[in-house]
Amino acid sequence: MLGLRGRLPRVKLWIRSSLAAAAFILLFAAFDSLFGHASTLVLYPPLLWILFALAARRYHDLGKPASRLLLLLLPLIGPIVVLFDLAFRKGTEGDNPYGPDPLTFGIDYLTVPLALAGGKVVVNDVTGLNPITVAAVVTPTTVDEVCEAIRRTTGPISVGGGHFSMGGQTASAASLHLDMRRLNGVIAFSPAARTIRVQAGVRWCDLQRFLDPHGFAVKIMQTYANFTVGGSLSVNVHGRYVGLGPLILSVRTIRIVLADGSMVDASPHENAEIFYAAIGGYGGIGVIVEAELELAENRRVERQAKTMRRTEYLRFFRQHVRGAAGAIFHNADLYPPHYERARAVTWVNTDKPATTRARLQRPGRSYPISKYFLWAITETPFGKWRREFLVDPIVYLGKPVHWRNYEAGYDVAELEPPSRSERTYVLQEYFVPIDRFDEFVSRMSEILRRHRVNAVNVSVRHALADPGSLLAWAREEVFAFVLYYKQRVRENAKTRVAVWTRELIDAAISVSGSYYLPYQPHATPEQFHAAYPRARELFAMKRRVDPNFRFRNVMWDKYYAPTLT
Ligand SMILES: Cc1cc2nc3c(=O)[nH]c(=O)nc-3n(C[C@H](O)[C@H](O)[C@H](O)COP(=O)(O)OP(=O)(O)OC[C@H]3O[C@@H](n4cnc5c(N)ncnc54)[C@H](O)[C@@H]3O)c2cc1C
Repeated sequence: MLGLRGRLPRVKLWIRSSLAAAAFILLFAAFDSLFGHASTLVLYPPLLWILFALAARRYHDLGKPASRLLLLLLPLIGPIVVLFDLAFRKGTEGDNPYGPDPLTFGIDYLTVPLALAGGKVVVNDVTGLNPITVAAVVTPTTVDEVCEAIRRTTGPISVGGGHFSMGGQTASAASLHLDMRRLNGVIAFSPAARTIRVQAGVRWCDLQRFLDPHGFAVKIMQTYANFTVGGSLSVNVHGRYVGLGPLILSVRTIRIVLADGSMVDASPHENAEIFYAAIGGYGGIGVIVEAELELAENRRVERQAKTMRRTEYLRFFRQHVRGAAGAIFHNADLYPPHYERARAVTWVNTDKPATTRARLQRPGRSYPISKYFLWAITETPFGKWRREFLVDPIVYLGKPVHWRNYEAGYDVAELEPPSRSERTYVLQEYFVPIDRFDEFVSRMSEILRRHRVNAVNVSVRHALADPGSLLAWAREEVFAFVLYYKQRVRENAKTRVAVWTRELIDAAISVSGSYYLPYQPHATPEQFHAAYPRARELFAMKRRVDPNFRFRNVMWDKYYAPTLT
């Protein structure tokens, strides 16, 4: 109430100034009747100071200095302007030089917490399907602390970023777990070179907040912004970008701490074998502590949508999307349960004004409408039909214009059900050479229908070939099929999911494709090696740089550990 630092939003100004006025009136009446009128003079200095402090902080909220209050010296017009500014104008969105946005301060994107059970720490992921008890947790805030944690121990180590991968990729039983989320600073930013160097625990949403005032955006990231850079590099993620693909295409260099605690810089030109092993290497080669990434311009993009038979999509994609100037994001939704129709959605650069005031997504929203539709699609009769023929045609009527950072900044919270105790939403993904699109869709839809998979959506994205990472999921130009579905959490449901997942993996492999590794590890070792033919090279490198098999998680335990005996 009394300090001059920080920012004060409109509503708080109204409340606090009303409280100050009420307190003044009460005290005034009391002083007047008890001590006489002259005694009320002592009340004015504190009142004026309080009003001055509130006004100063309100101006800070507008991104202006307190000296703006000198306008009060202008007769008539001055007080009107100041009153309007303070009482009615909205504060600047996001951080400003006077402090963080008070409307979002302390409110965050959805995070996955570590849990305590019987005095032990349990690492899980957003699905809740993979609880793993670890020996201890270290939360490094400096690179030295990472090196130190590795050097002063000899046992297994697991590494976690945002903990959103869905199949135990962040933990191994009884390991020392490195939770990287507090190693999250920006180290260097070069607008001229369009690059940023960051610590690996930083999340995309944090980077967007940093970059937005400078007019820049992340070049390649996922659709949601909750994920860490380290977790994304280790999975070699992709987004909905046109003309791009795996994240590695935007990485200049990484710094990684190896199993002996030594630090190595790696890029396509320096220690290239480490670079191509660690990116997409699921934490098995070492702990990525820093990365230098390329940036893009933060421009406005306008949505264009078109529905078609899915057999027309490949031609449509080639003619209107693949080489389209200004196309930034693209995906096509295939509607379950028949997968016969596609809605192609492309976001194209535009100079039109944004239709959404916000430049960045606001964290902490509750998304009741999205959650209701997710429930209705998966739980009510004709839910999928209503989505395809009633809801989406209305949703896609308009042509909204968003900033790129807004469109790439969604919060996973919008997908979060009220409870995951009986049913949970899960992702899977398959990659298929673009010429094999129709062949794969026919096989995929037959499998999903036969097993009555409760699919919410299949989102098709595009990616150029990976330049050489050993666990490349895009060995050539591919379409990615992102399947979002709902399953029960009980054991027999998990077993049934494993059966149809393996059928889908076979279907992808049969068209020279692959499947994605950050999800549930249902693939057999044979399927894993068929989809990732260079995995044995990666395993050979791991034996060299991590001879005592220190860096582990469920994926490495399942596919690598048996090769050691
Ligand atoms: C709702 C949802 C939507 C998704 N959408 C997409 C999408 O559009 N595109 C896409 O490609 N993926 C998508 N994914 C998958 C997601 O990108 C990956 O699971 C990604 O790894 C999540 O990042 P994270 O920070 O949570 O990583 P984590 O899950 O914490 O870690 C992933 C892997 O990286 C390792 N790791 C983490 N940090 C480091 C580090 N500093 N050094 C070395 N290894 C490390 C971990 O050991 C683990 O093996 C989605 C996932 C969810 C839940």
